[in-house]
Amino acid sequence: MSDNQHIVCPHCNAVNRIPAERLDDGPACGKCHRTLFERHPIELTAANFDRHIGRSDIPVLVDFWAPWCGPCKMMAPQFEQAAAELEPSIRLAKVDTEAQQALGARFGIRSIPTLALFHNGREIARQPGAMGAADIVRWVRSQAQVAGNR
Ligand SMILES: [Zn+2]
Repeated sequence: MSDNQHIVCPHCNAVNRIPAERLDDGPACGKCHRTLFERHPIELTAANFDRHIGRSDIPVLVDFWAPWCGPCKMMAPQFEQAAAELEPSIRLAKVDTEAQQALGARFGIRSIPTLALFHNGREIARQPGAMGAADIVRWVRSQAQVAGNR
């Protein structure tokens, strides 16, 4: 069984195949040569959402938020911190539901912030409400294990 992981580049959206044991070594994109993980959430839009959700072998945690939402802004630095801790085994991403209303509607996002965890193109868990970094990390790890991630 191959231990290569498909990783979608946050800069050019190219799908890279990275040996699992090299994920921790700061791998770069084969196409645009920029680093695939920057310990920082990436921005997803209608243009790149399906590619990242559908083609990533690692789970993708999406923060559905909006600029006018106070709790979302409070959670943003916590989410950043969680990205630094969870990458590269989990990709963290943000969807601005104000700018990307179609994505919010498609997933029936009724309250923000809402965290949704995707793996192999499917949503596997969802958690509404703001959370601290430690709680985000704990929640994601427990859900990813349930989904049989490695
Ligand atoms: Zn790239």
